[in-house]
Amino acid sequence: MISVTRSPLPPAPGTDDHVSLALANSTVSLPGGRGTDELGSPEDATAWLVAHGLAPEGTALLTYCQNQLTGLRDDLRSVFAAHVRGHTPPESAVDGVNRALTKVPSAPLLRYDSNHGFHRVPEHPVTQLVEHAMAQVAEDAAALLTGERAALISQCEASPCDRFMLRTHARRHWCSTRCGDRVRAARAYARKQDRITVE
Ligand SMILES: [Zn+2]
Repeated sequence: MISVTRSPLPPAPGTDDHVSLALANSTVSLPGGRGTDELGSPEDATAWLVAHGLAPEGTALLTYCQNQLTGLRDDLRSVFAAHVRGHTPPESAVDGVNRALTKVPSAPLLRYDSNHGFHRVPEHPVTQLVEHAMAQVAEDAAALLTGERAALISQCEASPCDRFMLRTHARRHWCSTRCGDRVRAARAYARKQDRITVE
């Protein structure tokens, strides 16, 4: 039985709908330098793909595939971070997303048989499984960044947490109640310290 690394936080708003946000958030920074990486080993990376419906059960990734996936994650984090801050994204990161988009043919192929007539089926050669998974993630990112929800992309403000999310309501500043509680506790502590100093 392989134990896989899971995020210590519940999914950030929007990650259930957008696998590109889920991939970007597959590494989490926590207070005290603690953090987790859901793609920290080939086994973890495999489990992540299976959990997100991007690879069939029984898949086994190699370290090379794991590195490709974490490379795309770095590019997505750069692109999303630039978007949130209103900066120009690094060209290399945009290139990385485009490489993932175009590395494999993603169009469903045209097939014909006498029972079904013409129909289209996605071709997913096992050898290109990671490339196909990455193409889907990159497609999601490109659609999100150019769609009407692009303005909702934001980043958790409860440092050191830096997870991305969709700001599903105007006053949402944190990716989770746990991050919100941490900020509130820190503010309460700071107010108490202020009172002690004044007295
Ligand atoms: Zn957070």
